[in-house]
Amino acid sequence: MGFVALVVVLGLCVLWAASSSFMLGGTQKLSSEHRAILTKYAISYQRLGHEEKRRFERIVSAFVEEKEWVGAGIEVADEMKVMISACAAQLLRGFPDIELQHFERIVVYPDTYRSHKSGRMHQGEVRPVPGIIIISWEDFVRGYAHSRDAHNVGLHEMAHALWFENGIDNEEHLFLDTPLLAEWNDRASAEVRKIKAREPHYFRDYAGTNLAEFFAVAVEYFFEQPTEFKAALPKLYWNLSALLRQDPADQMA
Ligand SMILES: [Zn+2]
Repeated sequence: MGFVALVVVLGLCVLWAASSSFMLGGTQKLSSEHRAILTKYAISYQRLGHEEKRRFERIVSAFVEEKEWVGAGIEVADEMKVMISACAAQLLRGFPDIELQHFERIVVYPDTYRSHKSGRMHQGEVRPVPGIIIISWEDFVRGYAHSRDAHNVGLHEMAHALWFENGIDNEEHLFLDTPLLAEWNDRASAEVRKIKAREPHYFRDYAGTNLAEFFAVAVEYFFEQPTEFKAALPKLYWNLSALLRQDPADQMA
């Protein structure tokens, strides 16, 4: 696992440095260069069958082409766009028509940055009012390099965006099944209470901050430790699996 992680990190660094040699395809279909990036680095893409790969590619293409990509002291290389978009596609696999349309802008920092809002150093954040997703590239890469530690800033921030998108009154409003979401909120509230009361719990303590953070952290465990999550909290796992219309534990089996 360590070697694989190193190869991924080195590979992404090389791609980053060589970014100027890539050009955007300019079409809705994923370019062969972009597909090559997915094939080489996106583990969630590599596991899919032919048809599912095409669906995944459509989401990646929509994000790469339609979002406004802004570099904060960094040029947003094409492979950064593809990998961040692949993270969104991983989460949205069960919703091929959902593009998180409220979030029009994705801002990429080279590494951790001081948030204007909180004044603290951040690895990423989602601002629902202006519709912005912010990601530290260094932390994003680390999240994927350590793909089994349930820390993944890309998935975490995309989960926040998905959560907000569901509640925003636009064409994508309420794409999450309402009864399943109500069930989730009940179960999540019980877990948050346990964390706050310092009772034994499964997720890291940060999940106890509030329901939004609980969801984002649960998504990190869902994709990076699905078998363990399913064994520890089977009902909550089933609930999230039904909500997101996919089952990573089954995919890993
Ligand atoms: Zn968060």
